[in-house]
Amino acid sequence: DSEANRARFQAVEHQYDFVIVGGGIAGVTCAETLAALEPDARVLIVSASPVVKAVTNLRPVTKLLEEFDVEERPLAEFQRQQRQRSGCGSVSVLHASCTGFNAETRQLRASLANPEPSAAGEAAEVRIGYGELCLCTGASPKLIPQARQHPDLVVGIRDTETVADLSKKLSTCRRVLVVGNGGIATELVYELRNVDVVWAVRQDSIGAVFFDAGAAQFLLPSLARPGGARVDKPGEAVELLPTDTTALTDSWPVFAALSNGELLGVDLIVSATGVTPTALLADGGVGPALDAEGAVAVDRGMRSSLAHVFAAGDACGCAGWSSDGETSSAAEETRLWFQMRLWSQARQTGSFAARCMSAARRGESPPPLDIGFELFTHVTRFFSYKIVLLGLYNAQGLASGEYEALLRVTPGVEYVKCVMRNGRMQGCVLIGETDLEETFENLILNQLDLSQFGEHLLDPGVDIDDYFD
Ligand code: FAD
Repeated sequence: DSEANRARFQAVEHQYDFVIVGGGIAGVTCAETLAALEPDARVLIVSASPVVKAVTNLRPVTKLLEEFDVEERPLAEFQRQQRQRSGCGSVSVLHASCTGFNAETRQLRASLANPEPSAAGEAAEVRIGYGELCLCTGASPKLIPQARQHPDLVVGIRDTETVADLSKKLSTCRRVLVVGNGGIATELVYELRNVDVVWAVRQDSIGAVFFDAGAAQFLLPSLARPGGARVDKPGEAVELLPTDTTALTDSWPVFAALSNGELLGVDLIVSATGVTPTALLADGGVGPALDAEGAVAVDRGMRSSLAHVFAAGDACGCAGWSSDGETSSAAEETRLWFQMRLWSQARQTGSFAARCMSAARRGESPPPLDIGFELFTHVTRFFSYKIVLLGLYNAQGLASGEYEALLRVTPGVEYVKCVMRNGRMQGCVLIGETDLEETFENLILNQLDLSQFGEHLLDPGVDIDDYFD
């Protein structure tokens, strides 16, 4: 396979109009969009992984909200499908790890996957020239520090491989400690069966990345099922893995010291404490400017600080947009959008980066932001409930006293929360089959003045759906 990879690559000229590093959702979307926009261009994905991730079964939910599945495809299969695409250029794929790049000479270095010494003694590293480069290198799970010394006892989840590894380990576990309070931990504690689960969260309530305390309270009963997880203990930070466990007589392979004083014996610790963007250094250790999280800082044209180098997906950081030297109207345009490392945003930023790269190839300025950047949207499922998050759903960036929250809750059925400022809806959380997403998306996008409804906006008797459609 590696020989075939090498032979295939050496048969072509190592110069591409567009090179994308990373074959996740961001990289694949970027490459496919470029192939559609610039059918005559040579587009290459350099992927360290033997599979790429593709978006399938795209289902629009509202104008801006869409659901889709993510499918992993072997590189060869993806390449074959690319050749069959009609009406656009095809994307080439190289199974290799990019080890650095030179922004002056516009060349990147990549080391071929699984190289074997060839008869000609060729180097396993190749150099590839690019016109425009997009870094879509994703992010890696942030593991609790002790994971490095005890990889068998502390695991992080990253992809299907690590999930498979986790499932194997779980089959012999009696008790598992899940650490973290984001989407991955929230999904995991609900899905784990036939094992005693202890969920250690630092914040006062569960699922704090997505939910306020009220929504968390609504969801909590879902964990109270046979074999359900024990939440231990909201509001308590944890310290893990004391090194000296010799005094302990219990037969657990690992003990976790929780900050509530408990010493908990478990078979396995799952660390789901967020991700760190993967930075790719340029030659000489000079890379694009990174933001505080270590992501490649991009402007509103998805451009990094280095000429002809763009970034998208988990690897990029859009946090600086609010201080981009932008006009106030541009800032207003994206006021209700913020970055979160999600599949939907990998797709969104990958696609937009492609449009910016295409403009750069033509010597044009970046296009204006898509309408998708006007509103944060996310649809998912937690604890078997449909969850829709729109705009500033948790009053992100709003000072307390600047907004009010309207609530409608039917335990076990639905939870509806709207964040209102000056009578205008800024965001909402919809849990359950509320059927309100389309109407609320419009209300938020149009910033209609709803003051006349006051606190009755969510009363079942008020048919806002009819009124505004
Ligand atoms: P990735 O998908 O991480 O792809 C990056 C690719 O770059 C990788 O294939 C990597 O091999 C490659 N790469 C890195 N460095 C190099 C290099 N030097 N050379 C060549 N290739 C390189 N989001 C949701 O919206 N819903 C969910 O339910 C959800 N569940 C998740 C569950 C887990 C366990 C995790 C970890 C994340 C989840 N996310 C979810 C987040 C989502 O997966 C990411 O936001 C999204 O996949 C990011 O896509 P990406 O293309 O930017 O990066």
